[in-house]
Amino acid sequence: MALTIEQELLKAVSKRRNFAIISHPDAGKTTLTEKLLLYGGAIHEAGAVKARGEQRKVTSDWMEMEKQRGISITSTVLQFAYSNYQINLLDTPGHQDFSEDTYRTLAAADNAVMLIDAAKGLEPQTRKLFEVCKLRSLPIFTFVNKMDRPGREPLELLDEIEQELGLKTFAVNYPVGMGDYFKGVYSRRQKAYHLFDRVAHGKGEVPEIVIPHGDSTIENYLDGDLYEQTLEELELLEEVASDFDLEAIHAGKMTPVFFGSAMTNFGVRLFLDAFLEYALPPTPRNSTLGELEPTYPDFSGFVFKLQANMDARHRDRVAFVRVCTGKFEKDMSVNHARTGKTIRLSRPQKLFAQGRESIEEAYPGDVIGLNNPGMFAIGDTIYLGKKIEYDKIPSFSPELFAYLKNPNPSKFKQFQKGVQELQEEGAVQIMYSKDDFIRDPILAAVGQLQFEVVQHRLLNEYNVDSRLEPMPYGAARWVVDGWEALEKVGRLFNTMVVKDAFDRPVLLFKNDWNINQVKADHPDLRLSAIAL
Ligand code: GDP
Repeated sequence: MALTIEQELLKAVSKRRNFAIISHPDAGKTTLTEKLLLYGGAIHEAGAVKARGEQRKVTSDWMEMEKQRGISITSTVLQFAYSNYQINLLDTPGHQDFSEDTYRTLAAADNAVMLIDAAKGLEPQTRKLFEVCKLRSLPIFTFVNKMDRPGREPLELLDEIEQELGLKTFAVNYPVGMGDYFKGVYSRRQKAYHLFDRVAHGKGEVPEIVIPHGDSTIENYLDGDLYEQTLEELELLEEVASDFDLEAIHAGKMTPVFFGSAMTNFGVRLFLDAFLEYALPPTPRNSTLGELEPTYPDFSGFVFKLQANMDARHRDRVAFVRVCTGKFEKDMSVNHARTGKTIRLSRPQKLFAQGRESIEEAYPGDVIGLNNPGMFAIGDTIYLGKKIEYDKIPSFSPELFAYLKNPNPSKFKQFQKGVQELQEEGAVQIMYSKDDFIRDPILAAVGQLQFEVVQHRLLNEYNVDSRLEPMPYGAARWVVDGWEALEKVGRLFNTMVVKDAFDRPVLLFKNDWNINQVKADHPDLRLSAIAL
């Protein structure tokens, strides 16, 4: 008997898990991704738009990995199958290509994996990305990496997460030793030690032995001191730690914590197994029709990322859509909520390593790449059936600001057009001085790469030169209650008042210290690092 569409969707959703990794550069995201892919048989990739030639630096971490390690996993989404699950891993660009895309990707994710370097603990980029996850109450799974090197005490790291992020922790596994003495982990789920064989050195799956708690053969593998110490710490953990609470995990209030070493492949599979068990399947999304379950029969999704190919020989653009409800099928005609137009999705793409391959169907939790003839903007909804629009993707505080100058007044019109279109597309935020006589747009970005992309595209697509004049600010805060509230407080020191693309007031600050000063002086002035 054929399945009804609801049954088909339920089946697809129940075995899908989607996540993004949040981490600071060098914590081991690339290495962990590589190891996770070891477990997924086929490597499917969606969204590889390759940069070539002089734009080589416009790459994602995965491209970098591809270059250095000779494997092809360049993409916006990696889809792999493991243990009866379809897993979608969304790329969160980092390093030099950290940009607003990194934040926006989290709008398409249902779960986040917070990857921490055991020696460094929480780092700035991780904290920033955590704030975005918190806004969406995403379940957060913590992997403490590099346990094969001397690091900080495990209990101290758990405490740091609790104190600084306000997240309860539940250590699902706990390390046995550290650095040269890292022998494996104790699984509190299975009440058993998983000891790994270091010889294999993480090239493939590492051999492991499993010894139940209380089994005396453990003494053949661990020296007495290490065993004693582990037992003591585990006892302490049982005393101070919260109980496992899956509801709190799903609400983003408790994080399951795993210890391991991506490089030597210690603890990665244990992590993946538990993750799949605890992670949320594709979740309902807020829309103008209320919260829509993924099993809602009509297809819908929203655009969370636009990518223009930087290679002049391939001038195509791709809009990445997170499928939220219903089933996507190739050649579908869908409605575009913002313009009211109908679009035939004739060339949906899922891009494999070098070449491209068209996809036939996709389900909630999946990401599809659509050829974008310039009609999509970040946050756009496409749908079938009753009209819906999903919640807008918020804007986050930029950290880099520069006036964009047009050295060639005769090209004023093209310059304006280019700036406006790039802003609408979400390539960068554009702000303007409050004083109308300064007409140069202010580019406001999260990462340096965004500036380069804007200048490059202005030149290539609009044929206009531009010059950047950096501004000495490092943070922006939106004035929540608008211009009137701002006027009430009178003159502010050490800030610049600007307006965003929607004429909303924004304050630019040099640093956090200046922000705190203004907050202290004007406790009634509500400021926000996020604009909804
Ligand atoms: P990313 O910037 O987060 O993608 O980090 P990479 O995966 O590129 O790793 C940064 C560096 O840390 C590389 O030199 C890795 O070999 C190393 N690394 C990653 N995971 C581990 C680990 O578990 N143990 C050790 N010792 N080094 C690691």
